[in-house]
Amino acid sequence: MSGKIDPVKKMAELLKSGATMLAETCPVKGCNLPLFKLPSGEIVCPVHGKVYMVKTEEEALEVKEKLSLRSVLDKLENKVLLILDDLSNNTIPQTSELIEWLEVLERIRRIKKLISEK
Ligand SMILES: [Zn+2]
Repeated sequence: MSGKIDPVKKMAELLKSGATMLAETCPVKGCNLPLFKLPSGEIVCPVHGKVYMVKTEEEALEVKEKLSLRSVLDKLENKVLLILDDLSNNTIPQTSELIEWLEVLERIRRIKKLISEK
């Protein structure tokens, strides 16, 4: 199988496997697909797989913040990796500059670890 998941096909599969469709929608930004409860009790989005199930608005907000924070950190991490690549390929890196970027990278990874641990 290659490419994107067909949500309609996936939803049909979920229903066939005994999952029930919920009134809640996927918390991933721009997704909005209905969530499904598997016979095992797990809550899944047809596209994003397992999702956090939240009970209150406050909790929902917290999860959304965490998810968007993580995607920002992912972008930062990629950016820093690109900069590091650039530094070692195209120019003779200044050691101090290199160390600074490595520290930034290290910090990003530490924050990502912290937010995924809860
Ligand atoms: Zn989704």
